Amino acid sequence: MASLSLKNITKKYPNGFEAVKDFNLEIADREFVIFVGPSGCGKSTTLRMIAGLEDISSGELYIDGKLMNDVEPKDRDIAMVFQNYALYPHMTVYDNMAFGLKLRKTPKDEIDKLVHEAARILDLEHLLDRKPKALSGGQRQRVAMGRAIVRNPKVFLMDEPLSNLDAKLRGQMRIEISKLHQRLQATIIYVTHDQTEAMTLGTRIVVMKDGVVQQVDSPQNLYDKPGNKFVAGFIGAPQMNLIEATVAKSGSDVTLTFGGHTIALPEGKAKKLEGAGYIGKTVVLGIRPEDLHDEEAFLASSPNSIIDATIRVYELLGAEVYLYFDVDDANFTARVNPRTTARPGDTVKLALDLTKIHVFDKDTELVVL
Ligand code: ATP
Repeated sequence: MASLSLKNITKKYPNGFEAVKDFNLEIADREFVIFVGPSGCGKSTTLRMIAGLEDISSGELYIDGKLMNDVEPKDRDIAMVFQNYALYPHMTVYDNMAFGLKLRKTPKDEIDKLVHEAARILDLEHLLDRKPKALSGGQRQRVAMGRAIVRNPKVFLMDEPLSNLDAKLRGQMRIEISKLHQRLQATIIYVTHDQTEAMTLGTRIVVMKDGVVQQVDSPQNLYDKPGNKFVAGFIGAPQMNLIEATVAKSGSDVTLTFGGHTIALPEGKAKKLEGAGYIGKTVVLGIRPEDLHDEEAFLASSPNSIIDATIRVYELLGAEVYLYFDVDDANFTARVNPRTTARPGDTVKLALDLTKIHVFDKDTELVVL
């Protein structure tokens, strides 16, 4: 298969708009890399530059060490699966999958072998004689994948391939695509704006915003160690609670004050924040909903981190409950056990797990703790 190297890639559209800015990334052979970010952040543009469907304004793209900037799309040995996987309605599944190979004058028995092999991998063998209108959405999407697989390309590019499917089917197809990656042993670059898709599929995730790469990391590290406030807020649902807090020193304690609450930091974090010169400054405090606790034992062992929360909304999701409340102007969420008796209007005590807090610089928004 293939490795890719993107060096200082920039895209400036003819109207002067810079959609991708200085994008750098090394992709190893057989990696499953996800580009994720809000609408308009430049994910598709980057993918299209890799495919050769869009010119690279500056920078270099290498595939297996060969410079690709000026290589025609058809000669890049890449297959692309789009969200609008237009199948030919008058053709059977077999012919839809065979079409590209026929155009390339692949021998008939070779085509037959490749189509049956792809159909077996995608569990489409029993559907080869059907026309697209007699298929479900998920089956159609698998045919679109099949068209890419039969070409046996070095690299698969997928641009939101599941966005036209309903939630249940998307979940199923996510598992299918993971299995497919293992079976094909292929390099895959996959674009999505859905962070759940990104977290569950990718071995490495590239988070983008406004054409700029924010962080490249494993799903776990993005969740546990977001490098800036944007990534902290984008990865995770419900999203991380974020609020401005003032740092102070009181005796030997370093404290954070926000929304009428003052919490004292554990020694290691206190030293780090003081050492970095943040005493007297305003920072952004982040805490994930699952790191706010209402259990008696946790509250008893965490007297330095308790806040009072007046519950606005209570949401039962079966195995867990989300409690929504406000701290000053910030919307907060706590994920607690369904045994909670807290209901809207109640004021409950919640303790922050101080080992799990995040602190970001207010101006640069980069992580401090
Ligand atoms: P989405 O998730 O909505 O598909 P995206 O992250 O894939 O978004 P792109 O399609 O790469 O975003 O677009 C990036 C930015 O470039 C957007 O602001 C878009 O409006 C702009 N853009 C795209 N194509 C052109 C073009 N031909 N000329 C000028 N600007 C463009």
